[in-house]
Amino acid sequence: MRDLPNRIVERELKNSSTLKGSSLSSLGISDSKRGRAESAPLARVAMEELQSALQDWGLAVSNVPEKGRCLVTIKDLYPGEVIISQEPYVCVPNNSATESRCDGCFASGNLKKCSACQVVWYCGSKCQKSEWKLHRLECDALSKLDKDRRKSVTPSIRLMVKLYLRRKLQSEKTISATATDNYNLVEELVAHMKDVDEEQLVLYAKMANLVNLILQWPDINIKEIAENFSKLACNAHTICDSELRPLGTGLYPVVSIINHSCLPNAVLVFEGRLAVVRAVQHIPRGAEVMISYIETAGSTMTRQKSLKQQYFFTCTCPCCIKVGQQDDIRESAILEGYRCKYDRCNGFLLRDSDDKGFVCQQCGLLRSKEEVKKIAAEIRATSDKASKSLSSGNLQEAISMHNMIEKLQQKLFHPFSISLMQTRDKLLKMLMELKDWRDALSYCKLTIPVYQRVYPEFHPLLGLQYYTSGKLEWLLGNTDDAIKSLTKAVHILRITHGTNTLFVKELIMKLEEARAEASYKLSSKDDE
Ligand SMILES: [Zn+2]
Ligand SMILES: [Zn+2]
Ligand SMILES: [Zn+2]
Ligand SMILES: [Zn+2]
Repeated sequence: MRDLPNRIVERELKNSSTLKGSSLSSLGISDSKRGRAESAPLARVAMEELQSALQDWGLAVSNVPEKGRCLVTIKDLYPGEVIISQEPYVCVPNNSATESRCDGCFASGNLKKCSACQVVWYCGSKCQKSEWKLHRLECDALSKLDKDRRKSVTPSIRLMVKLYLRRKLQSEKTISATATDNYNLVEELVAHMKDVDEEQLVLYAKMANLVNLILQWPDINIKEIAENFSKLACNAHTICDSELRPLGTGLYPVVSIINHSCLPNAVLVFEGRLAVVRAVQHIPRGAEVMISYIETAGSTMTRQKSLKQQYFFTCTCPCCIKVGQQDDIRESAILEGYRCKYDRCNGFLLRDSDDKGFVCQQCGLLRSKEEVKKIAAEIRATSDKASKSLSSGNLQEAISMHNMIEKLQQKLFHPFSISLMQTRDKLLKMLMELKDWRDALSYCKLTIPVYQRVYPEFHPLLGLQYYTSGKLEWLLGNTDDAIKSLTKAVHILRITHGTNTLFVKELIMKLEEARAEASYKLSSKDDE
């Protein structure tokens, strides 16, 4: 669930007029400097300290040829067990003009702006105090900027400024460092500078110059800052709440050692800003711990493309090595391909050899290219209208547009289509906003078979979808259905989120409430 800080960066920069129009060389990064070796190996002593700290967790860092560092267990781990948890080295909430969160705990609502810099928000004096050592320096630097420049200080820029300030404070020993919390670990992270394209590099360089302008340190290395932006893009994690809604971005250098699999044995969730990695399968002693960096719902091609684009590697997990095999072709065609022309046929379609269209692999019927194109164009046009209604705040109109999209997608795509599932998810969220529980539930129910197909048994998104279904059934008075859905939600979320979190405790309480009501109904029936 690493998100895409580099996409955030691009969006930020497009809106930032102060940074336009410069070339790489004028920004202090010429091409000749790009290809240097990535990072120095972690000093032997620091490595020994890290290994010994990890040993307390039952973990070790290992080096695998062609893959680099990975995290392995030195004991058996079982589903639901915490593998490791870590506070961020630095983190920053996703604050924007319309949404603000506390810099300390990421809470929203009832916030106060720092009166000196007017950039950072706090929920109260407790959070302000806990952040003060670092923010004191940041506040001074931000206060010196003129008003317009201060507006261009986006979360990514702040994250980098905080990274440099924390490094400085740790080296001066104003903030203490530990074996799992020190800048050496940040230095070790891969930046993939050789893989970053020119356009992206120019963006990083522009941002590095803004960081330089804020810090105003005489001997700062602008190229190193740019490289660190690339490092953040590959290694930082999106901090989410229990329902996986994004709140901010954080850098967790030990969690970043964990490699990716499309069928992972562990999951990363957050408790506030604490990153917690839990086992979702039995992980035998000596095995590598893996989490997923991306949304895994999609064909092998789609997953591989997003991993390559953001993380610059080709996945060789058990799902990905099947690419091109019969099973994988079939599954990809189901998730992202078209449906059979014949209503009652559930076959999947593949492009025919004459390139006339797509042939059903079950009944042999052909769907012409023209027909497919026509419906696809209608979907695009309706989607454009839908986003216009959404941005103008007309929820009712947006819902009817999405209803039309859903009908068109049902005509075009296979019933297990990811796009169709996403449209239904959007409808579910919009209908819940309007408190239309009945229609919301019907769309929620339609998504669940697709969730079950694309996610493994213990996936937080599947658990959350059961939870939503249970809540809606409860609101509609379908107690028995609510009990079934909430039981399934508990089964999954107690593993992915742990039983001690407030979120899961509340879920368990709802389930108990529903059970109590059901037995009350039953006993009052007996009395009659
Ligand atoms: Zn707070
Ligand atoms: Zn301030
Ligand atoms: Zn994979
Ligand atoms: Zn067919």
